[in-house]
Amino acid sequence: SSMLCAGLRRWESRNVTFLSAEFPVFWEQAEGVNVWDVDGNRYLDLTAGFGVAALGYSHPAIAAAGGAQLRQLPLGMGDVHPSAGKVELLEFLSRLTFEAWGRGEAKSILGCTGSDAVEAAMKTAFLATGRPKLIAFRGSYHGLAYGAMEATEMGDFQKPFLEQLAKRAVFLPFPNCWHCPWGKGERSPSECDAGCRSALAADLKRVFASHSVGAVLVEPMLGRGGMVLPPDWFLPLLRQVADEEGALLILDEIFTGFFRTGPRFACERWGVVPDLLCVGKPLGGGFPISACIGPAGVMDAWPESDGEALHTSTFLGSPLGCRLACAFLEEIESCRKGLAVEEKGKRLLAGLSESRFPASPLKNVRGSGLFVGVEVTDRHGRPDAALAGRLVSALLKAGLILLAGGPDRHVLSFTPPLVVTQDELNWSIATLHSLLERIGR
Ligand code: PMP
Repeated sequence: SSMLCAGLRRWESRNVTFLSAEFPVFWEQAEGVNVWDVDGNRYLDLTAGFGVAALGYSHPAIAAAGGAQLRQLPLGMGDVHPSAGKVELLEFLSRLTFEAWGRGEAKSILGCTGSDAVEAAMKTAFLATGRPKLIAFRGSYHGLAYGAMEATEMGDFQKPFLEQLAKRAVFLPFPNCWHCPWGKGERSPSECDAGCRSALAADLKRVFASHSVGAVLVEPMLGRGGMVLPPDWFLPLLRQVADEEGALLILDEIFTGFFRTGPRFACERWGVVPDLLCVGKPLGGGFPISACIGPAGVMDAWPESDGEALHTSTFLGSPLGCRLACAFLEEIESCRKGLAVEEKGKRLLAGLSESRFPASPLKNVRGSGLFVGVEVTDRHGRPDAALAGRLVSALLKAGLILLAGGPDRHVLSFTPPLVVTQDELNWSIATLHSLLERIGR
């Protein structure tokens, strides 16, 4: 792996994360929740590869579907000569979303990445409302293509490009009760009071009054932004304000979708139905495919095109992607009860909350289903990115893949494959606790 490391340094552009030369890991094979590297080490992947491998790696049903499709018809001609599988997927997406929510049939724009889905939603909202701006939230991550990056407000992603951005988004605080943006101190979402709700309601009113806003774009729970669960008033407030202002509510469920947080979609927790829904990550069972989904009445803001398509791409609705997505959806829909996501998530939360020694640096454990975060803090209770980094490295050496996220890079983020077993989670928690006792602060 040291040769591979040198190759990366030589031939890959520096925009990506620099691999730690101390312990470089190159993946070679993966099955279920396990990954093997080129040196033969085995890891339990508590990230599910950025939240993608919901059913684990190399799931037999998905592998079989993909293999057969590759042999039969790997690609089509985008929107010009699509495959029958594309229609099957479009119908499936309609059935699992707006039809399930009693809002009638939905139409979709397919894409390859999460950024594609978000940008399709941004275009749709502009066509539907004619209003160019959107409201987005600090700490959110919607992708890094230029359009999606306009709405991504975390880390330094925008920084080198600020002068070039169209500045389509107006940012408001995401209600993070553990670090209250309205200065109410540290609490849990259940303790969040009406004060924060009215503060945000006033902010929303002010932005709608001063800008031409056509959409509110939001992750129902912040993923890369630090695994933040909002208080229960948040999503219903956005729904209400969007309705009052005639704007669209776009939910980015690229990370939270398909049972990651317990229900099929995180918005179901609050009974909120969006106008546009973005999905991606796990949808293709590991293959890159995404979608922006909306009720026909919203999506028909796109004018009928006679001749050239208004929005398409070479790989739009690729036969391979559509087949894999259908295989993923069939499989997860048929086994979802047995996955026991909520139950495993509750036990993971409890395990992480158990302090094995006084002055544990772990704080503010939170989550929903298998979407869980815990903050790593210093002795004053402040974010400790350095310790989080040391923990992530030590865990990797111990055979556990975990990432730290959040604006301060101090939130350990647990998003294991939904097929992870209770024993595997117990082992992970025990490994984390024993490492903490060893390296402490
Ligand atoms: N939205 C959310 C909520 C995400 O978590 C991500 C990826 N982490 C994206 C959008 C962007 O997806 P992609 O990297 O596939 O463009």
